[in-house]
Amino acid sequence: MERAATSRRRRSRLTALTRSFGLGGQSPAPPPSASQRPDERLHTIVSGARGIIYISELGPLGRWTYVSPQIEEILGFSPSEWTSDPGLWARQLHPDDRSRVLAEEEADAASSKPGQVFESEYRILTRSGVSRWLRDTASIVETEDGTLVWSGVLTDVTERRAIEEALRASEERYRTVVETASDAFVSIDEDGVVVEWNRKAEETFGWTRDEAIGLRLTDTVVPERFRAAHGRGVEGFLRTGGDDVGGRGLEVTALRQDGSEFPAELSVWLTVSQGVRRINAFVRDTSDRKALEAVTHRAFHDPLTDLANRALFTERVAAALSRRADSSTATVAVLLLDLDDFKTVNDSLGHAAGDELLVAVAARLRSCVRPGDTLARLAGDEFAILLEDLDGRDSAVAVAKRVGARLEAPFEIDAMEIAVRASIGISLGQSSDDRPEDLMRDADVAMYAAKARGKGGFEVFAAHMRDAVVKRMELKGDLRHALERGELQVHYQPYVTLDDESLAGAEALLRWHHAERGIIPPADFIPLAEEMGLIVPIGRWVLGEACGQAVEWGRRWPQLGRLTLSVNVSARQLQDRRFVGEVADIVSTHGLSTEQLVLELTESSLVEDPDQAVGRLLELRELGIRLALDDFGTGYSSLGYLQRYPIEILKVHRAFVAELGRHPDEPALAKPILQLAHHLGMKTIAEGVEDAAQVAALRVLGCGYGQGYYFARPLPATELGAFLDERARRL
Ligand code: C2E
Ligand code: MG
Ligand code: MG
Repeated sequence: MERAATSRRRRSRLTALTRSFGLGGQSPAPPPSASQRPDERLHTIVSGARGIIYISELGPLGRWTYVSPQIEEILGFSPSEWTSDPGLWARQLHPDDRSRVLAEEEADAASSKPGQVFESEYRILTRSGVSRWLRDTASIVETEDGTLVWSGVLTDVTERRAIEEALRASEERYRTVVETASDAFVSIDEDGVVVEWNRKAEETFGWTRDEAIGLRLTDTVVPERFRAAHGRGVEGFLRTGGDDVGGRGLEVTALRQDGSEFPAELSVWLTVSQGVRRINAFVRDTSDRKALEAVTHRAFHDPLTDLANRALFTERVAAALSRRADSSTATVAVLLLDLDDFKTVNDSLGHAAGDELLVAVAARLRSCVRPGDTLARLAGDEFAILLEDLDGRDSAVAVAKRVGARLEAPFEIDAMEIAVRASIGISLGQSSDDRPEDLMRDADVAMYAAKARGKGGFEVFAAHMRDAVVKRMELKGDLRHALERGELQVHYQPYVTLDDESLAGAEALLRWHHAERGIIPPADFIPLAEEMGLIVPIGRWVLGEACGQAVEWGRRWPQLGRLTLSVNVSARQLQDRRFVGEVADIVSTHGLSTEQLVLELTESSLVEDPDQAVGRLLELRELGIRLALDDFGTGYSSLGYLQRYPIEILKVHRAFVAELGRHPDEPALAKPILQLAHHLGMKTIAEGVEDAAQVAALRVLGCGYGQGYYFARPLPATELGAFLDERARRL
């Protein structure tokens, strides 16, 4: 099971490699362009490797379908020369090694089993006829079309061979070879004491040869880091003589004489000469390469969560789609996730808490994907997952469900439990001409559809969903003209004193009569108006309309007393520095007494810039205008902060009201909210009262006022007139 997964991953990496460099044999990849660049990371890895990476068909005359550019530097042949001539490798083998190597290759290839390994060292003649020692390590892997190929690395071990050779020949030759080696060369004896140190080592470490001879291995590397990186100490390494790393790169943190550290890669091998064991190593300072890797990493990752960023994600989607084109069955899926209430958390708890939540969400998401999948943070609270090699739609849906389930448990941030839900959009890449941007846009569209259906769900993209996005854009266009075309209207919903159900006031609620679409509810267009900044002129107009109405009611039904009029105010309006002045103007123009006006604010208006908000609210209070906090209980603000604001009225969100009477045995959540409000001397209005049982329960809990369909629906001004008339007659 595990192995199958590994080999699948390996296979797709392999195809990526061949494709990325246009070496797919029959179908060379198109030249790199902005929309379809090769997998840059793969390129960085391949060209940074110390050796020639290759893929070749089995057998001595097997075609080399890919060789990395390093071949030019090591053997003098260009990659295309090497891949276009199937017999070249066998012909360039050193005559003394040829028959041995061909026999070895044939024996290993004969097994025809994926996973079969070939390891050999042999000489090969460069283009100019010089022989070089290469170490060839390869294994048989299966490509997507089922062909078996060698995938391997050729490392140049000429210098190491020369040292071994020289050691056998004469001391003097050995010295020359060691001194002229292009890498730092260090030899230690079995106790870890330095016995050899060449000129390049002096340059790399800072100790002269005389100073270095006699140093211990532990003086030249950071032992704790060694243990952390290799799972054993330096002593353990000495005991095995580095046998188990046999020539492969061993990464260590090395120390210079001045105490500074640098990352180094060691090529280690063991020699035994006249019964004396030595561990030899070429040491290469990899600081530059590491720095480059760090820069590349930064360019392609989100600094907060360390997940892939949008650029890398798009690359990966492109690579996945081009891999997929080879296979008729596998599916690529993009899942786009948007956290539903992230803005509330960020606004009410602050950015630091918001960041902490994003990091925690990223960690949970990580546990939902397989190692080969790509998880990214695209922006703010938007995450994305790329799934490859899927057998179809159901597997993508299964991942979406897993994500939903993993997010179910609340997060603990700032000693608070925070519930997070995500809306997920899924798009599937099944057609060969899918482009990455299409896949991502479709997932985005599906995500909006999921959000529209109710938070915390997922949707798989379907063509009709695109219409919803178009509709949103059209709606924005139409909204621009709605006010001047007279399509906006204010409805009024009365609220009553709960004790005797006498009329206390009314809330102004905006309606949009769209010429083609009919009535559009405020939840659908107020967020758009806020986004566009249009809420400022629209809000001004609502306030004018409402004040006009209130004055008229007072004139026509003086017996109803001074009714209060509530008007909703968006955060965006409160932030406008002209807001208080405009409210004062409108109220005085209509001749409304300011204590008849209540402005309803939401928690989000108060937390964005609390100092500015407090200032504005105090100015409004000075004018005599009263303030209400709308939808209380839906944000995350602590109850205590209420004291900071000059707010007189608390509107309890209808979710708490709906819950009343539904579970008579459980303690009502509305209770602590109402208790707190009373404790702070605030008036309370329950929203969304729909039946008599709720009225009874609210009375018991001491709630002062109620608003809801049970008493009256929001009504156009004329119908409200009839309602008031009826009320006045009952008096
Ligand atoms: P809100 O201020 O909390 O208004 C109460 C909402 O509850 C209204 O929805 C109202 O129609 C609805 N409602 C009243 N009684 C009941 C009931 O018994 N059951 C149920 N299920 N719902 C009830 P509406 O009119 O759709 O308004 C939605 C929101 O749009 C308002 O919530 C308010 O936040 C916003 N809004 C409306 N008009 C304006 C406006 O002029 N300016 C601004 N900034 N926002 C507005
Ligand atoms: Mg309201
Ligand atoms: Mg409300």
